Amino acid sequence: MTTSTVAAKDILGIYRPGSSHMVGDGFPVRNLFPSNELDESVDPFLLLDYAGPQYFEPTDHPRGVGEHPHRGFETVTIVYEGLVAHRDSAGHAGVIGSGDVQWMTAASGVVHEELHEKQWAKQGGTLQAIQLWVNLPRAQKMSVPRYQTILNADIPKVQLAGGAGCLRVIAGTFQGWRGPAHTVTPIELYDLEVMAGGRAELILPQGQNTSLFVVRGLVSVNGSSDAGEAELIVCKRAGLSVVVEAREDSRLLILSGQPIGEPIARYGPFVMNNKVELVQALEDYKAGKMGHLA
Ligand code: MN
Repeated sequence: MTTSTVAAKDILGIYRPGSSHMVGDGFPVRNLFPSNELDESVDPFLLLDYAGPQYFEPTDHPRGVGEHPHRGFETVTIVYEGLVAHRDSAGHAGVIGSGDVQWMTAASGVVHEELHEKQWAKQGGTLQAIQLWVNLPRAQKMSVPRYQTILNADIPKVQLAGGAGCLRVIAGTFQGWRGPAHTVTPIELYDLEVMAGGRAELILPQGQNTSLFVVRGLVSVNGSSDAGEAELIVCKRAGLSVVVEAREDSRLLILSGQPIGEPIARYGPFVMNNKVELVQALEDYKAGKMGHLA
């Protein structure tokens, strides 16, 4: 077969970080959305923060973000470099390092902290990570909180055709390989590495919103202009095929998901369907109904 028989996704645009700020004192992030107001083009994803890469000096007091609540969605943390520790009011805890993923389903509400791991902080080092917020449908926003530690060793690593590179399946499926993450709605989340001059074709499920975040390198996607480090290539919903051509050795996070298509109401760490539910979330948090850290 010399030509693809699968319809290519058109490109909506290439976006640079729309804002940057510190989360707590340990996560210097560049935000791709919501700051770029992509909204329904990235549904079911709500937020993408790219942290670092930044070197932190040794300290006996681990940096990060202390006790704070979430309700109505999931936080997914992907670590490229460094060690991040999580602890929440539902009794879940975990430490993740290079290649690992934390998938925290806040749902009805948790209070948690996200800190540089203590021993790692003592030695100092470079942190590079991504945090995604994944929305939950109305029917699941008040379900029981859950936590998944997904280790590098549990993530299938698929070699690409022609020796172009490799793809790690964090969630969803790729060429018959299934990722370990349990998701509430259909989501494909891939860590893709393509060598300079290499080409990778991904066929995604019909009807999904697909975006590609460039962690390192320089790529063209479905004939787009070149996108470099910290840029996000957003595809239109129609079509199935995404072809990545790498100009340099490149690493991308591919996020694709079936849109939820419900109204979104946000207030800081809470994402619900309307204002009444946001007020309730704030009241429940203040009344201690999301618990406290032990
Ligand atoms: Mn958090």
